[in-house]
Amino acid sequence: MNSLYLDYCASAPMHPKVYEVLMQTSKELFANPSSAHLLGFEVHEIIENSRDYIAKTLGVSSKEIVFTSGATESNNLAIMGVSRAATKMKGGKVHIITSTIEHSSVFNCFKHLEEEGFEVTYIPVDKNGRVSVDIIKKSLRENTALVSIMQVNNETGTIQPIDEIALMLREKKNIYFHVDGVQGFTKTSINLKNIDLYTISGHKIGAPKGIGILLLKEHIQLTPMIFGGGQEDGVRSGTPNVSGIVSITEAIKIGMLEKNEKMRYLKTLYDSLVHRLTDIPEIVINSPGGSLSSPHILNISFNKPGLNSAILINLLSKKGIIASSQSACSSKNSKQSRVLMEMTKDIVISSNSVRFSFSEEVGEAEVDYLVNTLEEIISQVKENGRFAVLT
Ligand code: PMP
Repeated sequence: MNSLYLDYCASAPMHPKVYEVLMQTSKELFANPSSAHLLGFEVHEIIENSRDYIAKTLGVSSKEIVFTSGATESNNLAIMGVSRAATKMKGGKVHIITSTIEHSSVFNCFKHLEEEGFEVTYIPVDKNGRVSVDIIKKSLRENTALVSIMQVNNETGTIQPIDEIALMLREKKNIYFHVDGVQGFTKTSINLKNIDLYTISGHKIGAPKGIGILLLKEHIQLTPMIFGGGQEDGVRSGTPNVSGIVSITEAIKIGMLEKNEKMRYLKTLYDSLVHRLTDIPEIVINSPGGSLSSPHILNISFNKPGLNSAILINLLSKKGIIASSQSACSSKNSKQSRVLMEMTKDIVISSNSVRFSFSEEVGEAEVDYLVNTLEEIISQVKENGRFAVLT
């Protein structure tokens, strides 16, 4: 049975051109870019050309691009690095702000810093999963050093009011604004002008795993997390992942070029799927839709107790449909979705969710198959009054 992959948010397949670049560079660019010989210089120059290309594409300076091992590291570096540097500079207690629906690589940094004694405010979300700029503004204190809010939520696709938050914070001189752009980059637009730190992950945009970027504006004071040979201008030591860097550059090139057309296509697909699912009374659509949602993510729940996420994902995978519920980083540890609980306050909805995430590889025929399979699961559950027979 061919599987229907609907988990592009967890990890996207590598773009064929990126794969070619990865193979070639992994074979050829083996020298250490820090080495003081001709081969080392050549590799160093290739990295710097990649950095220049990415910086130009993002409209920032090359010095502001830091290569990391992925978004988890970029988020940790941004949050821990800024918070610790602020403690050193300001002394006393430092206050930091995030939302209740961030990815665990952001949320758990704040939890950790809270245990270390930082003052933390977790901004709640409304029923669409959006933070309020006004609540953030009212939460600011004299000692606030950082606000971290994601661009697009990885479970629901909700787009946050990033421009408005950035504008509001622009006036506040010593407060930095970090945005986890993992699910938004090359999908929805972002204005980086008033954002101080921005996180990108390679494997969500058609590059391999193990490469990420932290956009770190030049004026930011940050304490490194990894110490060693002083690579990446001393911000992130360690021999750079050369083939990863060249691959993410290629993926960004392709992603930016194809972004508008892809997203127009996905919007049509999303609208058609939502339209059909709306007719099924047992299904609740959790993603807000319209201009509040990125059309590559759709989150739904079954509104009856018992048919929980783990069972649903299992039933779907038996029919060849690969989906997930929470982010891959949390789904093994938790029964309910923290994100949906914060949005809906409803234990059934939060326990029974499935996230479908799409790419342009998915067509109308696949959407048909998905809707028919969901209807089939529901009718069998109704008939049998239990789902054990299906497994
Ligand atoms: N932030 C968000 C919003 C994500 O979806 C993910 C991946 N699930 C990450 C951060 C972590 O990315 P990486 O796998 O590159 O560490």
